[in-house]
Amino acid sequence: MGIVCPECGQASRDLEFCDHCNRDLNGPPAAPPVPSRCPLSAAGIELTPEQQAALSRPEALLLIEADGAWQRIHWIDRETLPLWSARLRERIAKNSLRCLPQARLVEEDAGAWMMVDAVPLRRADGAPEKGTGP
Ligand SMILES: [Zn+2]
Repeated sequence: MGIVCPECGQASRDLEFCDHCNRDLNGPPAAPPVPSRCPLSAAGIELTPEQQAALSRPEALLLIEADGAWQRIHWIDRETLPLWSARLRERIAKNSLRCLPQARLVEEDAGAWMMVDAVPLRRADGAPEKGTGP
């Protein structure tokens, strides 16, 4: 008799705390550590609990429309940020390459938001859509 841990997916005999990852198996599910407000637009975007849960890993992404443009957003919490910061900085540095969509990194106390313009881009300036870049 046991319970399947929603965190690690393994069966735990302890019904209170997971045998494997020590997650609290009782009470309400832990709130996802993803902030409910994403600074995608000037006013910020309110995320649903499902969207917050979907962003609980840095690899996870969410497509969100803000100000008429689609953005890919990632959330990297403070704990894992050091593992990602080099990669993120490298990506931000590539903003100058016209062949890549613009990326923004917004740091907060709890972590950082990575926001990348998502295709299709509706550009008002009529810039060519194709072109593979240099
Ligand atoms: Zn577990």
